[in-house]
Amino acid sequence: ARHNDEDSEPGRVRVAVRLRPKTTEELSDADFFDCVELQPELKRLKLKKNNWSSDSHRFDEVFTASASQKRVYEAVAKPVVEGVLNGYNGTIMAYGQTGTGKTYTLGKLGTDDASERGIMVRALEDIIASASPASDSVEISYLQIYMESVQDLLAPEKVNIPIVEDPKNGEVSVPGAAIVKIQNVDHFLHLLQIGEANRHAANTKMNTESSRSHAILMVSVRRSVDDKEENNTSSPGKDYKSVFVGGHVIPTVRKSKLLIVDLAGSERLDKSGSEGHLVEETKFINLSLSSLGKCINALAENSPHIPTRDSKLTRLLRDSFGGSARTSLIVTIGPSSRHHTETASTIMFGQRAM
Ligand code: ADP
Ligand code: MG
Repeated sequence: ARHNDEDSEPGRVRVAVRLRPKTTEELSDADFFDCVELQPELKRLKLKKNNWSSDSHRFDEVFTASASQKRVYEAVAKPVVEGVLNGYNGTIMAYGQTGTGKTYTLGKLGTDDASERGIMVRALEDIIASASPASDSVEISYLQIYMESVQDLLAPEKVNIPIVEDPKNGEVSVPGAAIVKIQNVDHFLHLLQIGEANRHAANTKMNTESSRSHAILMVSVRRSVDDKEENNTSSPGKDYKSVFVGGHVIPTVRKSKLLIVDLAGSERLDKSGSEGHLVEETKFINLSLSSLGKCINALAENSPHIPTRDSKLTRLLRDSFGGSARTSLIVTIGPSSRHHTETASTIMFGQRAM
């Protein structure tokens, strides 16, 4: 991946908030009120404790319950995808309580209605459209992290797959997982469906919920860049000079990686009263989300040290956020005061990333 000092806001995390539409239960729930008020033009959100007190928060983007998938993609994901197409690593994450729309935002397939497609499908559509079939390659792995074990959603017999970091350039990879070269969008949709089915089967076997694991789509893009293109762009290209050999230009290969991360549900995981298995699960989810929070805070504070060693999740993200990489975080929330505490804590997680 490239390193570019001229990047306008290196390492900064773009943070958006998205409100889920009301469910039918919420529409008829007289015991609670709407605790979220959005002012999308001002990119502001108000969280009401009651009728006379509220907190106001600013985000990079504020999406109301009627914001389309297309708008969310274009505002939040497209800049990251464009970076990836230009050789920069990137990460797009969704954080929020279970049931607030993380999977809808990222993983919705939209096989019946393409306008419903989420960020994963739209990102691959854009990447495939700008890759040259002759000289570029787009490969994916689809992983789940459950209780600090990396599992392969495309080859479910593989568990506890090691995360490997290249000591030379810091490149993070998971070579033990299936890596599939993508032919076209339908091929990708098919793989996502397989991954989803495997996720469901694995979680049933482990007697857990998918909301208690992280799902990670890893997209590796390899593009041939010739001299001409390099000179026409504003990029410095100093690491990527093409080489002349016997009068021929040998194109250099530019590699970059996009991670799309559907995080485990952020709801306060209560240890009391849970069975042994749940207590263990809870510890691991708290570990990875809190270590993610620490990394994001360190990025926001421009700290030279991003503490990525503490969990598998952050180790996997190590070369895809901070530095020259672009990162977008979407925090998802529901409207009802029934979940005021969870919503407040989700908003706080997003605020600390800015
Ligand atoms: P999570 O992954 O955070 O647990 P889901 O994405 O599964 O939540 O969303 C919960 C439910 O709400 C699903 O039925 C989903 O289709 C619906 N939903 C979430 N966000 C939206 C939205 N913006 N528009 C329409 N339906 C949504
Ligand atoms: Mg989900």
